Amino acid sequence: MTKVLITADRVITKPADPAIEDGAVLVDGEAILAVGSAAELDAVADASVTRLRCPGATVMPGLIDGHVHLAFDASEDPVRAVAQASRDELAGAMRARAERMLATGVTTVRDLGDRDALTVELRTAIASGAAVGPRILAATTPLTSRGGHCGFLGGEVATDDEVRSQIARNVAAGADLIKVMASGGALTPTGPRMWERQFPPDRLKLIVDEAARYGLGVAAHAHGTDVIADCVAAGVRTVEHCSWRTVDGISHDPRTSRAIAEKGIFVCRCISGDWKSFLGRLGEERAKAMTETVLRMRDDGVRFLAGTDAGVPGARFDDYVGTLEFFAGVGFSPREVLEMATVNPAEALGSRSTGALGPGMSADLIVTDGNPLTDLGALRKIRHVFAAGRRSAAS
Ligand SMILES: [Zn+2]
Repeated sequence: MTKVLITADRVITKPADPAIEDGAVLVDGEAILAVGSAAELDAVADASVTRLRCPGATVMPGLIDGHVHLAFDASEDPVRAVAQASRDELAGAMRARAERMLATGVTTVRDLGDRDALTVELRTAIASGAAVGPRILAATTPLTSRGGHCGFLGGEVATDDEVRSQIARNVAAGADLIKVMASGGALTPTGPRMWERQFPPDRLKLIVDEAARYGLGVAAHAHGTDVIADCVAAGVRTVEHCSWRTVDGISHDPRTSRAIAEKGIFVCRCISGDWKSFLGRLGEERAKAMTETVLRMRDDGVRFLAGTDAGVPGARFDDYVGTLEFFAGVGFSPREVLEMATVNPAEALGSRSTGALGPGMSADLIVTDGNPLTDLGALRKIRHVFAAGRRSAAS
């Protein structure tokens, strides 16, 4: 692969660091060789290096979506769609969704529940260059209770032995992490309610311990306030949704919230780009309470990673920026929002080579018009996307 020198008005290596004005990134194959001032790198790069000059633009790390379902179609009834599709149809649709996500600047996704471990096949195809898309971390089949949330994906477990064998099956299929549905969820109205436990605390602990035996972390879907506390006690790596629901409404528990921060557990507060209609459906009072819980977690020192839940009803595969705009709208600074999109998810996902730009890191980067540190809308104007050094079309 040839070397490419990208120059732009500024380079953001990571959101907390000062941007390099008139900066440059030198890409060599899959990795970044150097980051510095344009003048300096231009001088050291010989004539054979391809120049990609981007005046008026910013170079920054590729975006990371911490919560997607490539197997779901974002329609009103993704459950039926995923159940009815043939293996080949579903694999083809997932490939197209992955390609669309990459075009919007998302260079890594964590898939938190698929069918037939199809994300693992796609992960391999993308990594080898046979398919175009973000790098994928795959949870494969989510563990759930009998009749529980998303049981139709095949991961129902009712005993400790069944927990062990399901995790072993996921590991054999190539899972990068384990997903557990610790509470009920909206997609499965016949199962436990959203605030209810699907597993006793002991079994949740077993899931975390068993995953750890294979060196894997656990992402726990948890809406209920009590369930979130169980997940924190069990030692999950990330809490998904974390919406603090109770039978009566929404109730943030400061003790649990602080424990999340202290233990270094990340929260993926999934919200789709279509959050305005979601909040509208919740009603004014609940929407306000929900937003309040996000701000209270932030005050408690909880670190967030951005996740769209792309694939569930209303959560499209091309509106990652819409999700970020929710957090900006409730008072997060652009720097905090960019951290949720880059360094935080990289850390939560255990990736040392993505989420920031520096020598030796993977060449996962985007070039946007303008400056996302002053205007997040710049992320809607992507000029170029590089994933593991491969340049692909921006949307
Ligand atoms: Zn989900």
